[in-house]
Amino acid sequence: MSSPIITAEIFDAFLKCESKAYFKSSGQIREPDELANWRLEVRQEFRRSCQLRYRSIFQDAFDASQPLPLDEVKSGKHHILFDCGIEAGQFQSRIDAVEKVTRLSRMKYRGYIPIRFVPNEKLSRHDKLLLAFDAYTLSLALGTTPTIGKIMHGMDQRTVTIRLAPLISVVRLMVEKICTQTTSPEPPQLVLNKHCIECEFKARCRALAEESTTALILVDCLTLWISNCLWPPAQVVDGNDYATWHRERDDFLDALAACTGDVIIVSNEVGTGIVPNNAASRVFRDEQGWLNQAVAAICDEVFLVTAGLPMCLKPSQPPPARTATQLP
Ligand code: SF4
Repeated sequence: MSSPIITAEIFDAFLKCESKAYFKSSGQIREPDELANWRLEVRQEFRRSCQLRYRSIFQDAFDASQPLPLDEVKSGKHHILFDCGIEAGQFQSRIDAVEKVTRLSRMKYRGYIPIRFVPNEKLSRHDKLLLAFDAYTLSLALGTTPTIGKIMHGMDQRTVTIRLAPLISVVRLMVEKICTQTTSPEPPQLVLNKHCIECEFKARCRALAEESTTALILVDCLTLWISNCLWPPAQVVDGNDYATWHRERDDFLDALAACTGDVIIVSNEVGTGIVPNNAASRVFRDEQGWLNQAVAAICDEVFLVTAGLPMCLKPSQPPPARTATQLP
């Protein structure tokens, strides 16, 4: 059996969800979600502005709009190449830019290093692993492994240098797992996650989860959810958004009461401290307490966990009837 093709897109999908990588590598195609499309546009715009910045510094920048002949890269005649399509065996990546390191650095490397343009203000491990995947593909194509890469990110287009060796080791392991998974007749176990909301396969996975009789739903956690509903991150409001919160809360409690599967809910107890001195915190504390009571009334079991020690507040079975102690 021939080795499966692993593109940067499939690797990116694997970092988000193993099922998504499986669907993509087996050639399943869906229309991208609206939110995912918007993120893509933001990233494309950011890439363009980063390229402009580089061009103002390096006059000999070269665009590789097609997969780049390796001889062109190996010739080393360009200081920087944008949109660099690299294919090496089963691996393919379209690298935002590769830059030639012309002098021996502390990292003892001379050659091309990968650069990624990431609009996020804060870099995640996900961003760094994608850079490492680019470096891994580049190393297979050129025969030398870059020891460093760069990520330009955020509104100020800050550039950080990333040491690649430990990340490339992780990439190798992940790539092995993707290969094993892709050639397996069985898809990986479905685990709904935070990426589902913008995933193109969400309708399919939702239907599978609803059909499943063994699905376990983890809601983690109610506390952050309350604050997101009362003070939506994307909305500038002067005050609390009660209408949104009450609608969401009532829908959640109705769904929980109707749910026949297993659900684990994480929440926080905020009523054991002093009464907060500002109105917003008092609203939050009250809403959290009322929600905890409503959820606990529906749930079969409730535990309070302190220092990792669970204390059962509501047992699934009622305790045995007490018998009066016979005093002498
Ligand atoms: S909808 Fe969720 S579980 Fe399904 S493939 Fe996408 S991210 Fe994975």
